[in-house]
Amino acid sequence: MIVATPKSVTELKNTIAQHGKVLFVGCGTCVTVCLAGGEREVGIASYAVRMARKIEGKPLQLSQMTIERQCENEFIKDVAEEAAKVDAIVSFACGAGVQAMAERFPGKPVYPALNTQFLGILEEQAVWTEKCLGCGDCMLAQFGGICPVTRCAKRMLNGPCGGSTEKHCEVSADRPCAWQLIYKRLESVGQLDRLDAIMPPKDWSTAWYSGARQVVRKDHRV
Ligand code: SF4
Ligand code: SF4
Repeated sequence: MIVATPKSVTELKNTIAQHGKVLFVGCGTCVTVCLAGGEREVGIASYAVRMARKIEGKPLQLSQMTIERQCENEFIKDVAEEAAKVDAIVSFACGAGVQAMAERFPGKPVYPALNTQFLGILEEQAVWTEKCLGCGDCMLAQFGGICPVTRCAKRMLNGPCGGSTEKHCEVSADRPCAWQLIYKRLESVGQLDRLDAIMPPKDWSTAWYSGARQVVRKDHRV
């Protein structure tokens, strides 16, 4: 899922300082699961910003709603009626959701309430870790399902580096060495021979360096 973290109340308040009527919109999927942008977080942020504005003597008319997903027009259309009544929208979605909302409401300022972080998983209660950089050419089959592109600090495809230990990456003592994990995993599935192959330099043309990518599935086009 996409993992995001909330912006501070001060930043939110400053961002909408020029507006008197604002709509806070939550997103019911990834950012709800990572406790950053769901109905509950929208409620808490609304209360805090409203209070902050009141203390400043600049009361704010603030409405709030949460939709299933902000990255799909099918759900964004449910915001239209409320959006028409306000000066600006604050989106509690990932960066894709914020931009989808801005495209859907061209005459309306749309501001982000979150900082989008990465594609990751819930590791344990309230701890999320990054697992995928979306490189566009997945190599997990070769590495026992552990991504060195994301999880090795040096993005090594022929690791480990000389600084690895059984427990930690040399770059950070709180991070496991991805190549140690890869070795253990391949050993457990009887595929250590995969490490005999020298991997060529990765083809980064499928990644993000040349700008925003697009996926067109002709088999699903009508
Ligand atoms: S190889 Fe690429 S697509 Fe696969 S998990 Fe790693 S970054 Fe993601
Ligand atoms: S210690 Fe392991 S994870 Fe860290 S940079 Fe070296 S090979 Fe990569």
